[in-house]
Amino acid sequence: MERCDGERAGYHLKCNGTLYRCECGNVGCMQNKEDACSRQGFLASGRCLKCAATGKHEMLTAGATHSPTLMGDPA
Ligand SMILES: [Zn+2]
Ligand SMILES: [Zn+2]
Repeated sequence: MERCDGERAGYHLKCNGTLYRCECGNVGCMQNKEDACSRQGFLASGRCLKCAATGKHEMLTAGATHSPTLMGDPA
């Protein structure tokens, strides 16, 4: 699965959380409160911070992205 490379607010640590993608296209990790990570996309309740839909997200897995040229093509 894909890992969040955002930064945790107040800690200056790499987030490394699981990334999710909403059906609206929003991609980010899930945190217990808002603004907990620079790449946060969802609240722990399952609510998307972009479109406010709940439960419309799925875990982002390697290969499921739409930018295959950035995935390290094995020549
Ligand atoms: Zn994150
Ligand atoms: Zn959304």
